[in-house]
Amino acid sequence: MIQHLGPPYRAVALSTHSRVDQLIEQTRRLRPVAIAVTGESDTAYLRSLFGQMGVECFFGPSGLIDLVQHPQVDIVLSAVVGAAGLPAAVSAVDAGKKLLLANKEALVIAGSLLIPRARQRQTEILPIDSEHSAVFQAMQAGRRQEIRRVILTASGGPFRKASLSEMENARPRDALRHPTWNMGEKITIDSATMFNKAAEIIEAAWLFDLEPDQIEVVIHPESVIHSMVEFVDGSVIAQLSPPDMKTPIQYAITYPERLSGCGKRMDWTSEWALHFEPPDPKRFPALSIAYEVIRVRGTLGAVMNAANETAVSAFLAEKIRFGMIWRVVENTIAQHHVILNPTLDDLLQADQWARRTAEAWIRRQG
Ligand code: MG
Repeated sequence: MIQHLGPPYRAVALSTHSRVDQLIEQTRRLRPVAIAVTGESDTAYLRSLFGQMGVECFFGPSGLIDLVQHPQVDIVLSAVVGAAGLPAAVSAVDAGKKLLLANKEALVIAGSLLIPRARQRQTEILPIDSEHSAVFQAMQAGRRQEIRRVILTASGGPFRKASLSEMENARPRDALRHPTWNMGEKITIDSATMFNKAAEIIEAAWLFDLEPDQIEVVIHPESVIHSMVEFVDGSVIAQLSPPDMKTPIQYAITYPERLSGCGKRMDWTSEWALHFEPPDPKRFPALSIAYEVIRVRGTLGAVMNAANETAVSAFLAEKIRFGMIWRVVENTIAQHHVILNPTLDDLLQADQWARRTAEAWIRRQG
């Protein structure tokens, strides 16, 4: 992507947690000025290897903070999974860098911290998640106050046509078949429960400053329309492109410009159709949990995220049935005492509390 774009875009800094071989290959090819390795690594070897290339090295979790604050960095693309990326995202915002978020957890966990902070520092936070990129692109068709609501599309996942009882008792192998996107195990389960979409509702609420009644979800199995914005006059603007993350990544990097793309293109030479259906709230309770989270906000998103992660691990380890995942989350949320304007520490503590509470509840069920 960065090589496709060419100057003035350049990879100034790169990081990895554990894919050190890939980092070495990319450092040789892209010649950044700094790198960070946050996981275990042979620091002496890497220091001498990168030192010879004239590359500054940072190690350990704080390495990411050094990296995002580097004076040559203008744009930070954060794709760190889970809460681990939060301190670096906060310091990118504090340092006034444009922050591109690929992981929705950052806003689900810490929207109540990141968004006010970014507003204060006048830092831009732009989405890479395909739905939010689509909303952001469609929003360019009108003024902020002309937006009536946004419509997030969802593939519906592997259980779109399953019955409630099939879903209740589903095993990991049933839930791991995803029709459109090829993703990791955790996110594929999230797509089956629709906790992925729940997270996206919360992400949209923070990113675009929306109230619960301004966010709708529609199942669209082809995943060609990535989301839509309805304006006050009744016009709906949709963004379409083949399922390929290169398009949203590039838009976030080059916004407000559009440059020649390197993703797949739409093919209009044969007959095809797009389908839409409303999600069934009985089979996908994750969605109403998300609306509850954005009504309350504060630490509740962090709790939803952590409880869901705990429940998904238990499901993949075959400790609980599929139908228990949302119950774990709902139960954990019900027990939480919300902090409305949390610090980073409050959020990380809420995350830990939710994991312990969810685990204890899962143990009691077994
Ligand atoms: Mg998405």
